[in-house]
Amino acid sequence: MPPVGGAAPACARSLAELLVALSAARALPKGQQLHGHLLKAGHLPAAASSHALLAHHLLTFYARCSLPDSSLRAFLDLPAPPSAAAWASLISSFAQNGLPAAAFHAFRRMLAAAVPPTDRSIPSAAKAVAAAADSTRPALAPHALHGLATKTPFAADVFVGSALLDMYAKCGNLPDARRLFDEMPERNVVSWSALIGGYADAGMHHASLLTFRSALAHAVQVNDFTVSCIVRVCAAATLFDLGAQVHARSTKTALDASPFVGSSLVSLYSKCGLVDCAYRVFTAASERNLGIWNAVLIASAQHGHTATAFQRFTEMQAAGFRPNHITFLCLLTACSHAGLVDDGKRYFSLMRKEHGIEPQAEHYAAMVDLLGRVGRIPEALDLIESMPMEPPDSVWGALLMACRMFKDADTAAIAAKRLFETGSRSSGAHMLLSSTYAAAGRHVDAALARKAMRDAGVRKETGLSWLEAAGEVHTFVSNCRRHPRSTEIYSLLEKVGAKMEAAGYVADTAAVVKDVDRDEKRATLGYHSERLAIGLGLLIVPEGVPIRVMKNLRVCDDCHNAVKYLSKCTGRVVVLRDNRRFHRFEDGVCSCGDFW
Ligand SMILES: [Zn+2]
Ligand SMILES: [Zn+2]
Repeated sequence: MPPVGGAAPACARSLAELLVALSAARALPKGQQLHGHLLKAGHLPAAASSHALLAHHLLTFYARCSLPDSSLRAFLDLPAPPSAAAWASLISSFAQNGLPAAAFHAFRRMLAAAVPPTDRSIPSAAKAVAAAADSTRPALAPHALHGLATKTPFAADVFVGSALLDMYAKCGNLPDARRLFDEMPERNVVSWSALIGGYADAGMHHASLLTFRSALAHAVQVNDFTVSCIVRVCAAATLFDLGAQVHARSTKTALDASPFVGSSLVSLYSKCGLVDCAYRVFTAASERNLGIWNAVLIASAQHGHTATAFQRFTEMQAAGFRPNHITFLCLLTACSHAGLVDDGKRYFSLMRKEHGIEPQAEHYAAMVDLLGRVGRIPEALDLIESMPMEPPDSVWGALLMACRMFKDADTAAIAAKRLFETGSRSSGAHMLLSSTYAAAGRHVDAALARKAMRDAGVRKETGLSWLEAAGEVHTFVSNCRRHPRSTEIYSLLEKVGAKMEAAGYVADTAAVVKDVDRDEKRATLGYHSERLAIGLGLLIVPEGVPIRVMKNLRVCDDCHNAVKYLSKCTGRVVVLRDNRRFHRFEDGVCSCGDFW
């Protein structure tokens, strides 16, 4: 609340109270009416200090109604010079309405006007720095702002400190975020959450979890933001057991009713292969936001429940939610996973025509993927040529994947050339090109492509698979024997392998040649990393519980086939998540319908 200058006349005071109420209700038309009245009655521009309060309330009213330009006009109607509080409100209006550059500019103007920064203007400026895209943010801004804050009386203020910490975290500077956190004389749930969320966004899952544990140990009353961060970490690292524990905890504290927690839970269960649980969380959610609708859409898409995804999209609109670019990405992914070209094209044009959302690079990538998967490679190439922006790696990658599936070496060569021209050092692209040549029988070209990759100094990503059981994560690379139970794993896989062969499984030796992963190619066919992880799963995951394995690369054709047989011969359910989608193997069939 800004300081009231002098004794306000009763009329100004009641008008101010009315504005505050309209602000809280975001009642734009009524507020605009009142604004007109103030202008007509000569209350604005504010000459008397009593009316300064009115102009200030008007400023925050427009900020809340997401009209930062009108906020600026109200600011200009204030008697000069504007107070520190008025500056803070203006900066905050820009920062909270997605105009970080304007916010930071206003902050600089304020400093130039010799108005000292306060515990309100510093956090808003910090928010603006954090929100600025990496390319537009002055490199020194975070440190400059922090340095400035330490020279004010608010250096030890928990609100200011948390805002600066959040700024460092959102800029991806976790070491400085941590240092600030450690130096803070007092911390609150916002400070803890900022650090936990920062580690989560940076993919530093372990650090995020440790900080969360430490917050609980310090008896911090975590809020829905903290919980949704930690569930996101569990989803990203597919730490199912821990995620389920956090879910149980949040039910006790009623935090699970928050749509933020709900949407993280939906993606956690979906990513761990338990799509029914994901749907249950969604159905039970008392409050829904766009995030949770998108989360359930992507869950349906990832698990091949295409009709459900379309249905949810209809329901979502009926419930009054406007789809955003993520919604359409989910729908296109759903179409892609099911090979539904016509539906995909329909949604692709719908997003622009009916919803005014311009397709971004990832939407094009999804369309290229969709066309490519059904073999419409020339059409995919045409679409790429029509893109209004430079096609990113993901688009060429999707085309290359299609070329490999359909052994189209000529288009693969074009795609790879264009991809390498962008300066991409993607090892996957090099491997896809060489394996497309190999699949098309052009072994000399394949060898040359591999040599080009070595010459370019590109190192390929190592295939990794991991399995979480009883709170421990077991990681495998192909053909490794580092796991303490390796002997048992290998002998069990051999035993199961014999049963699989008896049931008709034939190892696809061609896959060895085609395989995109060179290390894995060298490895004995049976011992790709995912198979070792599944082998351990057979040993330690209790009967009746699905064996959940994650892999950082695409699962190869032969392993995919082998796991189908394995599920039949052992009666176990295996959920394998690779870098493209989910595979749920049960009784000899995979949920992807061999389409991945
Ligand atoms: Zn494999
Ligand atoms: Zn599959």
